Amino acid sequence: MAERITVKSPSQLEKMRVAGRLVGETLNYVGTLIEVGISTYELNREAEAFIRKHGGIPSFLNYNGFPASICTSVNEQVVHGIPSKKVKLRDGDIISVDCGAIVDGWHGDAARTFLVGSVAPEVQKLVEVTRECFFKGAEQAVEGNHLIDIARAVETHAREYGYGVIREMVGHGIGTHMHEPPEVPNYVDPRMGKGTKLTEGMTLAIEPMISLGTWRLKFAADGWTASTADGSMAAHYENTLIVGKSSAEVLTLV
Ligand code: MG
Ligand code: MG
Repeated sequence: MAERITVKSPSQLEKMRVAGRLVGETLNYVGTLIEVGISTYELNREAEAFIRKHGGIPSFLNYNGFPASICTSVNEQVVHGIPSKKVKLRDGDIISVDCGAIVDGWHGDAARTFLVGSVAPEVQKLVEVTRECFFKGAEQAVEGNHLIDIARAVETHAREYGYGVIREMVGHGIGTHMHEPPEVPNYVDPRMGKGTKLTEGMTLAIEPMISLGTWRLKFAADGWTASTADGSMAAHYENTLIVGKSSAEVLTLV
């Protein structure tokens, strides 16, 4: 973890664009593979091969001991699900895929929640609104705003639908490390004040994690998988972006 918030130079941002593009392309590719019966092991294998084929290094692999190149979190699993041959996608599932890659020393990080077959309308809505929450937050990622503006925008949108906003996991700065300061929460924490003032050239990963029920998590015995404490369905949507003067530039959407 870097010690302080960094503002990236134009040449550094150019490298982050390259890393971000690869992460976005990898997620698009994984999206084409989603179908009933495929295992999360297979998705991981394909994602890792795709990243390496395009000159990247999967940043999740061995990160604090994580055993795979993507996180695959199905249904009530929120984040950090471990790919497995035993987990095969079923009709009506949703799967959140989180992916990170390093290119030339710079990181990209993004996540999508995909629908498998015929998904219940209320769950489809959750997935759609979680994506919208990211864009509500990203609109606030401009110079002069503060972190609380991002948090408030994400939380307000999710609350309109009565959804739970996960608190124990947050977005983050990103650059030569996957996780850099500052933390980017998806809810307004009165203890944080306004949070960091945003400056053009800061790079952030904004990542709403939203549930149909509680915001509380429980952790699996594998030490990684975080699920909603009440078993309600959860979605995750993340992009890496550059804070701009009047609008953010999203790096991981291609
Ligand atoms: Mg992240
Ligand atoms: Mg991520």
